[in-house]
Amino acid sequence: MYSNSLIELDRAHLVHPVASYRGHEKQGVRVLASASGATVTDASGKQLVDGFAGLWCVNAGYGHESIVEAATRQLRELPYATAYFGLGSEPAIRLAAELAERAPGDLNHVYFTLGGSDAVDSTIRFVRYYWIARGQPQRDQFISIEQGYHGSSTVGAGLTALPAFHAGFGVPFDWQHKIPSHYAYRNPVGEDPQAIIAASVAALRAKVEALGPDRVAAFYAEPIQGSGGVLVPPKGWMKAMREVCRELDILFIADEVITGFGRTGPLFACTEDEIVPDFMTTAKGLTSGYVPMGAVFMSDRVYDVIADAAGASAVGHGYTYSAHPVSAAVGLEVLRLYENGLLENGVKAGARLMAGLEALRDHPLVGDVRGRGMLAAVELVVDKQKKTPLPAAAEPARRIFDRAWDNGLVIRAFANGILGYAPPLCCTDADIDAITERTRRTLDQTLEDPDVRAALA
Ligand code: PLP
Repeated sequence: MYSNSLIELDRAHLVHPVASYRGHEKQGVRVLASASGATVTDASGKQLVDGFAGLWCVNAGYGHESIVEAATRQLRELPYATAYFGLGSEPAIRLAAELAERAPGDLNHVYFTLGGSDAVDSTIRFVRYYWIARGQPQRDQFISIEQGYHGSSTVGAGLTALPAFHAGFGVPFDWQHKIPSHYAYRNPVGEDPQAIIAASVAALRAKVEALGPDRVAAFYAEPIQGSGGVLVPPKGWMKAMREVCRELDILFIADEVITGFGRTGPLFACTEDEIVPDFMTTAKGLTSGYVPMGAVFMSDRVYDVIADAAGASAVGHGYTYSAHPVSAAVGLEVLRLYENGLLENGVKAGARLMAGLEALRDHPLVGDVRGRGMLAAVELVVDKQKKTPLPAAAEPARRIFDRAWDNGLVIRAFANGILGYAPPLCCTDADIDAITERTRRTLDQTLEDPDVRAALA
């Protein structure tokens, strides 16, 4: 077992993100010690397939020596360079250029952050700056989507639409609004793709009308809603929403923090969705989680308005660690890996993953299976006809996570009985098969859970 002292130290001192503090104290930490490929090993030596790539971020998989070397080289040469005062570093400049070259359309300007939350937060600032620069300061209302996740910053958490991020924090603010999700499995308009798209378009138009057509600044959408339960919109949904925003002169922000960097297949999901947003936010797969970094992509059109308005004055937004050279060096190497086989392998592995999860539909608890590429979910129900979720008494998040763990699998188990999958793109056939086989075992055990049985009866 783990060292008890480590568990005690964690309990006493480490505040965990998005956790029940008291629940965590009771349960104690599980310490991860090492990892390679798609396998993580805990401090007791137990090996597990990481079906969630850490937190949907280790897209390249663990243990790439070339990434370690890139970081080490940069740490030796120049561990830090500010991007203030007109200074810069070679890796950050090269990474910005490489990313701009690959980004959709005219997203040619890259602002580096430390992760996804501050990338979203930065867009809020840039959007406001843009509208003030365009002489429309009254455009200060922001719209996002129910079940959406846009990080945990002070204001970004208000664009997020998950109750745990609001309760007790005093968000959302009164300028942050939501429209219903496209969530096909539980959509009041049913599962027909065209009906879902029409409903979302109508909801956005109605919200803009209600707020005042000249009041809305921006609309935020994830190409696939991740933390809301891996909700995949119908094909054409992003395009339709993008077109409405263009028509209504509202900025469109594609939040690709999860979907970027091969998660759904291509480097950016927007490419597959055939859209060019005004801003695109990314993080996670940008450095494959090896070091922290995020990136805001800005279109020429938006950048020029901000740049011209500021003129000789500074645009007062920046961090000490903006464009960090070590993170950028890692980003460059990760990008090289994606384009030297990883993206390709991800597409192949993604097809196998989807086929394996689809095969679980015969299980009594499986109500829905959905996904794109290496991003997927299985939604559990106790009544397939009525789509009745697992009862809260069965503690789906904790018990299913624990069972999967015992079976040698890391997945995300959401509180409402949705299982989330985002394995590393380097997964072998054997890794993918282990993920689906261990999921089935986990579901069989869940079927034996007395609280699940009671709900089934
Ligand atoms: N936006 C989306 C779509 C995300 O999924 C996340 C994190 O999961 C974020 C923003 C916030 O990113 P971070 O956790 O790096 O701050």
